[in-house]
Amino acid sequence: MPHYRYLIIGGGMAADAAGRGIRELDPDGSLGLVGAEPDPPYARPPLSKALWKGEPLESVWRKTAEAGVELHLSRTIKELDLKGKRVRDEQGGEYSFDKLLLATGGTPRRLGFGGDEVIYFRTLEDYRRLRALAQPGKSFAVIGGGFIGSEIAAALAMQRCRVTMFFPDAGIGARLFPADLAGFLNGYYTEHGAEPRPGVSVTGLRKSGSGMVVETGSGDAVTVDAVVAGIGITPNTGLAEAAGLRVENGIVVDQHLMTSHPDVFAAGDVARFAAPALGTTLRVEHEDNALTMGRAAGRAMAGDTEPYTHLPFFYSDLFELGYEAVGEMDPRGKVVADWKEPFREGVVYYLSGGRVRGALLWNTWGQVDAARALIAEPGPFEEKDLVGRIGS
Ligand SMILES: Cc1cc2nc3c(=O)[nH]c(=O)nc-3n(C[C@H](O)[C@H](O)[C@H](O)COP(=O)(O)OP(=O)(O)OC[C@H]3O[C@@H](n4cnc5c(N)ncnc54)[C@H](O)[C@@H]3O)c2cc1C
Repeated sequence: MPHYRYLIIGGGMAADAAGRGIRELDPDGSLGLVGAEPDPPYARPPLSKALWKGEPLESVWRKTAEAGVELHLSRTIKELDLKGKRVRDEQGGEYSFDKLLLATGGTPRRLGFGGDEVIYFRTLEDYRRLRALAQPGKSFAVIGGGFIGSEIAAALAMQRCRVTMFFPDAGIGARLFPADLAGFLNGYYTEHGAEPRPGVSVTGLRKSGSGMVVETGSGDAVTVDAVVAGIGITPNTGLAEAAGLRVENGIVVDQHLMTSHPDVFAAGDVARFAAPALGTTLRVEHEDNALTMGRAAGRAMAGDTEPYTHLPFFYSDLFELGYEAVGEMDPRGKVVADWKEPFREGVVYYLSGGRVRGALLWNTWGQVDAARALIAEPGPFEEKDLVGRIGS
C-alpha cells in the first residue's frame, strides 16, 4: 500500500493547484493524487470556449506530474477510513496518508429520461464526443440556459451547427442577469444563429432513427441529431458524508480549509467555505475559486497558517460578449445597472440592505478588485453613488 505524506482525491483544477501549493512549502514530501478520469488534470473552461475557437487540445494540460505529484488515474476512491488514515479505490487499491485533500468537484445533474444519449457536458471526454458530432449543418438541442448551456450553444453555432436551446426561464442567464439583459441575450443568440426557446421545459426524449426527438412541456416535438445538457452539478460529498465529516450542501471547511477532521482538507467546487467579505458561507463552482482555494488548501496541508479570505470571481464568454463577476448576484433583489452602451458594456450592481453584494462587469475588464473593494464597503449605497463608480 503506497503511503503519502499528502494525498489528494480528485483530478481536477483544485487538485492540481493544491499539489503546486504543497510544493511551494514542501518540495520533497511524498505527494499522490487519485483521480477518476483517465486524463491527467486539465483546464475545464476551454472545453466550452477556446478549444472551439482554434486553441489546440494540448493547451488544456496542467502538467501536474511535472510538479512532483504521483498520479493514479482511472481510479475512484470508494471508502475513506479516517481512523486508519487510508482510502480504498474501486479496484481494491489502498493508499494511506498523513494529510488528505478532498477535491472531488461535482457531477452533472441528469434528466429523468434520455439515458446516455444525452451529453452532460463536463469532462474532456464529453468534449471529444461532442466535437466529433459537431459537423456543420448538424442539429443540436441544448438543454439549459445557464453557464454551460449558453457557452455550448455559442460554440456549436460557431461551428455552423443548427442549435435550439430549451430552458424554463424567460431569458438566457436569467438566474444571474437582470431580466432586461437576459431578454436581450435571447435576441442576441438568435442573431448569432442559435434559437432560444425561453420558458420551455423538456419533458421527454426519445430515439428516432439516428437522432433524437425532444418533447416539450408546451407540446412540441423537435427532432435533432444530438442532445447536450447543462443543468447544473451536485457536489461529490458522498465520501465525506460516509466518513462522518460535516457536510452542508458541500464539505464544510474552516478558514484554514480544514474539514471537521484536522488532517482532512477540502477545496474547489465541493467545498463550503466562509466568505468574510459577505459575512456568509459559499460554495462556488468556478475556476478562480478552484485554483485559489486549491493552492491555499495545499499550502495549509503543508503547514501554512494564513486564513483563506478570498472572494472569488468568475467569467464567461457569449460569442463576442464576455464578463467577469464577483460576489452574490441575485437579480430578484435590488439591481442598479450602469450601462456605457446598453447590454454591450457596463456594470450591474446587486444590492441588499444598502450594501453591494455583487457586481457584473459586462465587457468591462480589469475591475474585479475595484468590485471587491466596493463589496467590502459598509455603504449604504444608492443608485447615484454607484453610477460611474467602476469602469469609466
Ligand atoms: C465546460 C466547462 C466550462 C467552464 N467554464 C468556466 C468559466 O468560463 N469560468 C469559470 O470561472 N469557471 C468555469 N467552469 C467551472 C470550473 O471549471 C470549475 O469550477 C472547476 O473546474 C472545478 O474544479 P474542481 O477541481 O473543484 O472540480 P472538478 O473539476 O469537478 O474535478 C473533480 C475531479 O475529481 C474526480 N473525482 C470525483 N470523485 C472522485 C473520487 N471519489 N475518486 C477519485 N476522483 C474523483 C472527478 O472525476 C474530477 O476529475 C467551467 C466548467 C466546465 C465543466
